[in-house]
Amino acid sequence: MKIGIDAGGTLIKIAILENDKFTFRKQLSTEIEEVAEWLKTVPDAQVALTGGKATYLQSLIPQNAFQSIEFDATFRGIQSFLTEMNLDISKFVFSNVGTGTSIHFVDNDKQIRAGGTGAGGGMMMGLSYLLTGKEDFDEIVTIAKEGNRDIIDLKVKHIYKGDKSPIPGELTAANFGNVLHNKDTENFTDADKIASVLGIVGETVTTVSIHAAREFGAEYVVYIGSSFLNNTLLRDIVMNYTVLRNFKPYFIENGEYSGAVGTLRLM
Ligand code: ATP
Ligand code: MG
Repeated sequence: MKIGIDAGGTLIKIAILENDKFTFRKQLSTEIEEVAEWLKTVPDAQVALTGGKATYLQSLIPQNAFQSIEFDATFRGIQSFLTEMNLDISKFVFSNVGTGTSIHFVDNDKQIRAGGTGAGGGMMMGLSYLLTGKEDFDEIVTIAKEGNRDIIDLKVKHIYKGDKSPIPGELTAANFGNVLHNKDTENFTDADKIASVLGIVGETVTTVSIHAAREFGAEYVVYIGSSFLNNTLLRDIVMNYTVLRNFKPYFIENGEYSGAVGTLRLM
């Protein structure tokens, strides 16, 4: 049995390879000791680690694990998934929306880090909690779907009232910029607030990603990371905005396991 583990800031992603088939599971990073206890029960497994908590996990387990740099592992994993999907793209940007967001440019067999932003899954969780007191990921992504961003975010069309605007009216002009205009007439629900949090996270991630794509002359942007899990609103925001800016977005099924699969493949 081979086990690839990406121990990240929020979640530990585990990819188990047996008889040429992968199974995936994840656990909270705060439960890293539990993952170590499980690894003790399979002492003969070949283990490959990556992620910010890899060295700490190594200190807890009996296996002498292979370790790789997170960016290389993630790229290797993405290559595996793209091959499986029969998607033949050689020049693209990938954006890993984890606790934070890391953006990379790929040209055939090479990746370089193009940048990043502190807007990502961690911001989504923290800001949602500050605004609503909610901290359960599934509840946050479910409630977000019912939210109305229009009373919180200021769109270009709100500014260009009646006049023809030089850019599409549906674009956000100012995230949270409509709050003070509506504070006396509207009741901002938790759903509205969380939808707008997903808005600022998704739009920031997309903006930084497509700037990288433009800088490097790439047409495709591949988005991965657990922040997109069951998160249809965040996916829609990112997909629509990427398309609007004339780039081609891709979401990879199980893409959040790229680091875990990749470090195992590199072993
Ligand atoms: P990093 O790569 O930045 O070190 P990470 O690898 O832990 O972090 P991911 O697992 O890709 O990052 O994504 C973490 C994000 O996924 C969280 O910030 C949160 O928005 C979201 N998420 C998805 N499922 C859960 C969950 N069950 N519990 C907490 N957060 C979750
Ligand atoms: Mg990660």
